Amino acid sequence: MADIIQLLPDHVANQIAAGEVVQRPASVVKELLENAIDAGADTIKLIIKDAGKTLVQVIDNGKGMSTTDARLSFERHATSKIRSAEDLFQLHTKGFRGEALASIAAIAHVELKTKQETDDVGNVLVIEGSNITSQDVVVTPTGTSVSVKNLFFNIPARRNFLKSDTVELRHIIDEFHRVALAHPGISFALYNNGSESFNLPISNYRQRIVNIFGAKTNEKLVPVEEDTEVLNISGFVGKPEFAKKTRGEQYFFVNNRFIKSAYLNHAIASAFEGLLKTGTHASYFLNLTVDPQTIDINIHPTKTEIKFDDEHTLYALLRSAVKHSLGQFNIAPVLDFDRDPNLDTPYSYKKTETSVPKVEVDRSFNPFQEEKTSQPRVSNYKKEPTESWESLYVGLESKGNHSKQEFSAISFESEERTASIFDDDKQVEKTHTTYQLHNKYIVSTIKSGMMVIDQHRAHQRVLYEDFLKNLTVKEAASQQLLFPLQLHFSPQDIVIINQLKVDLEHTGFVFSSVMEELVEITGVPVGVPESEVSIILEQLVSDVENEVPESHFSASDLLAKSMAKSLAIKTGQSLQKDEQEHLVNKLFACKEPNVSPTNRTTFITMSVDELDKKFI
Ligand code: ADP
Ligand code: MG
Repeated sequence: MADIIQLLPDHVANQIAAGEVVQRPASVVKELLENAIDAGADTIKLIIKDAGKTLVQVIDNGKGMSTTDARLSFERHATSKIRSAEDLFQLHTKGFRGEALASIAAIAHVELKTKQETDDVGNVLVIEGSNITSQDVVVTPTGTSVSVKNLFFNIPARRNFLKSDTVELRHIIDEFHRVALAHPGISFALYNNGSESFNLPISNYRQRIVNIFGAKTNEKLVPVEEDTEVLNISGFVGKPEFAKKTRGEQYFFVNNRFIKSAYLNHAIASAFEGLLKTGTHASYFLNLTVDPQTIDINIHPTKTEIKFDDEHTLYALLRSAVKHSLGQFNIAPVLDFDRDPNLDTPYSYKKTETSVPKVEVDRSFNPFQEEKTSQPRVSNYKKEPTESWESLYVGLESKGNHSKQEFSAISFESEERTASIFDDDKQVEKTHTTYQLHNKYIVSTIKSGMMVIDQHRAHQRVLYEDFLKNLTVKEAASQQLLFPLQLHFSPQDIVIINQLKVDLEHTGFVFSSVMEELVEITGVPVGVPESEVSIILEQLVSDVENEVPESHFSASDLLAKSMAKSLAIKTGQSLQKDEQEHLVNKLFACKEPNVSPTNRTTFITMSVDELDKKFI
């Protein structure tokens, strides 16, 4: 039989390599920024058009390339950074594989302009699908400019696979942040569709974080420093009370390279144990410096995963360093005026205050008529009703092994204290047909038997249909705030809030101004507690980032879902009898009562027959 194996032509090999290295415009951004850093630049500009689909350009003032190097740089396995396999374990550069430019040139239109300091003129090369189509002399400043146009022009399947501009831009900005955070000693700018999105001057690390994430970030940072023989740790963690519902601000850099590591992330999470509200994630910006010989960066083409020689030691060191810093920060909580008062209130109070967020509650409340234990209510209750019970988890979790049962025991105790046991019992017999189980389910009798309703999901369904209606008929009622609410956001979050502003107004929000990093709100939807507003908006921004709908209908849908998720009664919240009944009635007035907005079962039923069978 004839031989059938052949060597692939270079342009095919390059396209295959590109499949690994270049997944989306953000991958191009990463590779080009890294090359600029390796070239010793101290000023780097990134220019983006149409989320990188039309143009990604990086201009640096680094050392540039000679005429021959400029041509060679587009060959596969062409690199100036390593010479032998041993060099792989002495890496001081970002790149080393010598395949980024070759891969990018295989799937895009590339123009390279470059000049070295000692030369009077530079070179300009145009490459399309791996072929150099022109090379000329050009007058250009010292340094390099690489423009990548029409990414995936020759692979329509990949081009079609790209997400919406918002999603792709998000990835680009993430990549830009990672690189910029790892190199505060380099100035970076990002221009998106002709306007400047970021301008980050050379600064120290703290200032760089603040320049990226907004002025408010400064007060949230707790420094972490640890110097040991195997590892140097420096950077910041976010104070626990500013923990986010999303994992957005979590950055590890190893020898100035952003890496992903679930294992090390776990080390941080465990250092924060007992300090965070459930469902929130600590922010961190940590630089680890290790001997390059003790890591292997070459385990993944995009170089974002690293193999450490001694992961266990790193884990332990990291955990204790973060714990130590948090401990220091916690030493004098009374001096910290920004501290959330809820964190200082014993959890047994919190339980008594829980109820469906109601705007009017507590108006007639008179602290002098109540039992002595009620006093803390005056300051806490109206402001943060939902957070009160949430911080309940904090107290319990830090104690380790409390179970859900104990939750409900606590709540029943306090219910008894506020009302006469006997009256209440009589009422149960006469009027109430619902019962709350483990602060999670509402059990109700129905004709055929019984029904068990998941309170969180059910309430999500109710709120979702309400919000959706408001968004469609556009006449939601708004409740004026006495004092405007000022919320800080990062500039890129503001972009999203601006996109959603009109829809948010239809749900009842009133914005008096939306500035670069600050949103001022003078009205909120009726029934939305003021203390929840920042959480709702934060959750919304993150939902939009992760799942951007293109059509208007689905944008409203997403908004309604996100708000319902944030505002729905949570698992763990104790409900009064009338609140339980109200929820059940509202649920069954919904169009689709049997599933939550995310399609999860809201209730199950069990007939008397089924029960009977269990007793056989
Ligand atoms: P690697 O970075 O892994 O070496 P690349 O394909 O990214 O591979 O780049 C190939 C070579 O081109 C680099 O080793 C470097 O010598 C040169 N090069 C690329 N970008 C620049 C730049 N912005 N300035 C100077 N030299 C560059
Ligand atoms: Mg490179």
